[in-house]
Parts: sequence; C-alpha cells; structure tokens
Amino acid sequence: MSLMDVRIYPDPVLRKPAREIETYDRALESFIRDLWETMLAFDGVGLAATQVGRDLRICVISWKEHRLILVNPRIVHSEGEQVGDEGCLSFPGIFEKIRRPQKVRVEAVDAEGKPFSVDADGFLARALCHEIDHLDGRLMIDHLSPLKREIIRKKLLKRSREERTNP
Ligand SMILES: [Zn+2]
Repeated sequence: MSLMDVRIYPDPVLRKPAREIETYDRALESFIRDLWETMLAFDGVGLAATQVGRDLRICVISWKEHRLILVNPRIVHSEGEQVGDEGCLSFPGIFEKIRRPQKVRVEAVDAEGKPFSVDADGFLARALCHEIDHLDGRLMIDHLSPLKREIIRKKLLKRSREERTNP
C-alpha cells in the first residue's frame, strides 16, 4: 500500500480526461487500493484517479455507510436540482455553493469488471457528479462564475508559492 500525491489546482493534469479501463488485473487492484487509502488519509469523501495524476476512469467514494469503487462510471439518468456546499481535495480550504442534480443513476463496473448501478439522492448524488466530472477533466469551479474561478485560482497559486518558499 502506498499513499499518492493529491494534485492541487491549477495543476494541468486535473484537466486531462481519463481513459476507459479495459484490463482488470493485479496492477489495477493495487492502484484502486492505493487510491482508496489516499482518500482516507486525506479525509476525503471522494477521490478520482485524475487527482493523483493518472488518466484512468476510476473514482472512489466513502460517505456514511456508502463505500463505492467505480470503474468506468457514467451518469445514465439525472433529475431535479440541489444547491449545496462542495469541497475538493484538489482545492484545499475552498468550499463553494454548487448546483447539481438532486438524483442520479450511475452505471459502473467494479475492480473485477462486474457491472453494477447506484441510485443516489442528495449528497451522494452530488459526490458522484463531482467525481465523475473529474474523470472528464471538469472541476467544481467550472460550475462557478468566471470571476469566482479567477479568485480561487489566484488564492491557490499564492498558496503553492508560499509552500515552495517555506516547505
Ligand atoms: Zn474533487
């Protein structure tokens, strides 16, 4: 098991769309285990492979009793609307109100390639939309106004400059 580095915005790797998984092997299993442990170590509700710099369509979610490992996930149905606070391990310290569907149905496969689907409502629907967005290189700030996006970009750039000067 090894923890991975979570990439912080505006790292360009976060914009790279992930590719579909076609091979289900030991390497994939071990990557998923590392992704899971990294999410827990950073106290995240979810983590997508693109956030650790890998262009693989995989994300994990751990919220309340829900433990989801989603390979090649896609939203096949969405309905309604909700607005609520959202954060992201790639945007440390940033929480913003984001509009998302109230309910979604997601189809995915597990680490062995076995298909399943999830019907989610409320916060879980939000988390699924957020993580699946990552796999397409879309970020939570894309749902905000250009002005807000710019403010957040400057804040995180300043933060990473400060970290480089005082490690
Ligand atoms: Zn995120």
